[in-house]
Amino acid sequence: MNTERFKNFLAETFFPKSFTCDICGVETFKTNLCPDCAETVDFIGEGCCPVCGRKTVRPEICLECKEKPPLFKKAVSAFVYENGGVLLIKKFKDGNGYLKEYFADLLAEKIKNLPAADCIVYVPMTKKAQRRRGYNQSELLAYSLSKRINIPVIKDALKKVKETDEQKSLAKSERAKNLSGCFAVNKPEEIKGKNILLADDVMTTGVTAEEITRALLAAGALNVYSCAVASVEYKITKTDNASDIKSKKDVPHTRA
Ligand SMILES: [Zn+2]
Ligand SMILES: [Zn+2]
Repeated sequence: MNTERFKNFLAETFFPKSFTCDICGVETFKTNLCPDCAETVDFIGEGCCPVCGRKTVRPEICLECKEKPPLFKKAVSAFVYENGGVLLIKKFKDGNGYLKEYFADLLAEKIKNLPAADCIVYVPMTKKAQRRRGYNQSELLAYSLSKRINIPVIKDALKKVKETDEQKSLAKSERAKNLSGCFAVNKPEEIKGKNILLADDVMTTGVTAEEITRALLAAGALNVYSCAVASVEYKITKTDNASDIKSKKDVPHTRA
């Protein structure tokens, strides 16, 4: 047993997570969140884009997906990356890998809306980034999910070939440029002809899922579906609104 595993073992033995709230730590009874914290997490229901899965004002395809359909077929996510949702993801990345079980429970439910996949792959990290964190959170998630839905994980199917700048402050086009050519497929023979489910922690603009899908399709994947624990709510900006009025008539909801 390595040190990290041993620490987790001790933590899970002496502080059973099922009896405390995953956000604030107060005692709970068989729920992951206490009632107060549960209020701060916006679980995604019907009101979301049927393509990218992000929360939308109305349950219809978002303008981004309408104007430029993503390469992946469909994506789902469990909650909005805001308020309590941000805190949960932050904990997951900051050493609380045990949250993978809760998140996999949520995603297993969401995945029922996707066609069955042949295998699961996960968003890779550079070796350096993984050493810094001690684990790849998307990999943990992929394995917990695999146990629930009985679909195998292809370990190290992908690699991140270059370190990227912090994405948060960049606009979508800049993010795309930043991530372009950043992912490579390690095991094309295991990807070819398969329907693939990509596991991710957070979907912000969808550029990561898009770039990974590009690499998977180039390696011969049939279809790629994506699931993320959290995603950023889709909000109509002023410019979107203008193009909405302009394009509404002639752009059919082909993928709704
Ligand atoms: Zn709480
Ligand atoms: Zn969308």
